[in-house]
Amino acid sequence: MSGSSRTARVVLIATGGTIASSSGPDSAAVASRTAGEILGSVGPTDVEVEGRDLLNVGSYLLGHRELRVIAEAVAEELARDDVTGVVVSHGTDTMEETAYLLDLVHDSDKPVVLTGAQKAADRPDSDGPQNLREAIALAAAPQARGCGALICFAGRIFPAGRTRKQHTIAPEPFRAGDGGPIGRAGASGVQLTARPVRPARLDRPGPAFDETRVDVVTAHPGADAALARAAVDAGAMAVVLAGTGAGNGNHALLAWVSEAVRTGTIVGLSTRVAEGPVVPMYGNGGGADLTRAGALNLGGLPLYHARLLLALLLSQGVAVTQQTLEPYI
Ligand code: ASP
Repeated sequence: MSGSSRTARVVLIATGGTIASSSGPDSAAVASRTAGEILGSVGPTDVEVEGRDLLNVGSYLLGHRELRVIAEAVAEELARDDVTGVVVSHGTDTMEETAYLLDLVHDSDKPVVLTGAQKAADRPDSDGPQNLREAIALAAAPQARGCGALICFAGRIFPAGRTRKQHTIAPEPFRAGDGGPIGRAGASGVQLTARPVRPARLDRPGPAFDETRVDVVTAHPGADAALARAAVDAGAMAVVLAGTGAGNGNHALLAWVSEAVRTGTIVGLSTRVAEGPVVPMYGNGGGADLTRAGALNLGGLPLYHARLLLALLLSQGVAVTQQTLEPYI
């Protein structure tokens, strides 16, 4: 394991996901394996690894409270003098959200590395053991210091800030928008070829985060404002509009944005497209009209990253403006 020291100590915080899943009698996979069990499949490494069982669920079941609990556990482990880095095993479905939250609040030079699997732990061809081995090597590697939260999957290393799950079942499901992976981990060790640019750290979420509601509403042919209104009626402090293309709506959504902004709802303008920034260039209900009506341009920040950023800021009482968002988008 090139780059790791003999005395490196990594803590694995297990949260569930496919990497911990086995099939039940109905053949549906369910997270059940402990940190010790998944570590048992990794084989010998020259890093000391300690397991901590935190959660044991599919990541499609996580709420804000669980994300906050993960952020607290990571901070606790990173604060230990004897710990070199932390690995979080996690379902792939919402790994991008947890990774981004951990990156936003990361207050250490030590790395935190998220990994998981696309094939359940009881399959002979499960990718979990190799992904975990490589994530441990990365968390122990001196070159990973100062990189914040990283995703290590299928031999590739991704920065949390722009990375999304972009394939449901492929063995390499993650892509970093407008850029590639920033390194590799594998038989030849860990090689980082770039370092992530990260904005100033935010405070870790407090209990108010658990109940801070931010919803996503998607534009599509024939979309009206009924769902956006329902989100606000349900208590959403902000609504992220996943516009078409570079961030466009239509006349019904434009009318809603004007009314919502006037009555104090934060409206963020993102895009339903997997990669590329919001560019307010069209009128007639397009992005230029939406931003003129007060929607905040979420730039190149991926859709669900944007939802999470707004929830974190609003839970901490930050007055969210275009200027507040600028360093993050
Ligand atoms: N497909 C998911 C996984 O990889 C399910 C989940 O997110 O837990 O773990």
